[in-house]
Amino acid sequence: MDKALWRAIINCDTTFDGEYYYAVKTTGIFCRPSCRSRTPRPENVLIFNSVNEAKAAGFRPCKRCRPDESPLGPDATLVEHAKSIIELRYHEPLTLNTLAQNLKISPYHLHRVFKRLTGFTLAECIFQRRIHAAEEALRTEPFRTVTEIALAVGFRSLSHFSTVFRKTLMQSPSDYRTLHMTGQEPAKEAKQ
Ligand SMILES: [Zn+2]
Repeated sequence: MDKALWRAIINCDTTFDGEYYYAVKTTGIFCRPSCRSRTPRPENVLIFNSVNEAKAAGFRPCKRCRPDESPLGPDATLVEHAKSIIELRYHEPLTLNTLAQNLKISPYHLHRVFKRLTGFTLAECIFQRRIHAAEEALRTEPFRTVTEIALAVGFRSLSHFSTVFRKTLMQSPSDYRTLHMTGQEPAKEAKQ
């Protein structure tokens, strides 16, 4: 068995959830790699690529991690939901609390799961989404001022927008705009 996969099983890590399933010969049950049930002995484990393969081999889905219910684990599903809300509503005054309310879970739990799976906090993710939208507007909407764009993508002030923008792209929004709108970008070397 792949070492990384075995480590994920031992550590209840969600990296391989949805990609692999492991079945335990002695119990007849199959799980997601992240399942928190007792770690089986490696010699009793069979790896499958899908729920259907595990079922076809005669194994039953675990009642704890419910591998047959969603292709992603419960944590990954939560992160996907949070991301899709951010995608739809990043320009609104979105906070950890409003997101948690939307998802009907505690802000603490949401923060912890999101950070563990993505490496980012929700606030960082929201800011990145806003900056991305601002970049596009700066390039393609010459008739709007930088302040208008900052507010439209969800920042509450131009100065906060500028700070986050500089931190992300190492230049000011207006420099970015000049560079990308007047065609002064240095010509790229032809690809060999
Ligand atoms: Zn399980």
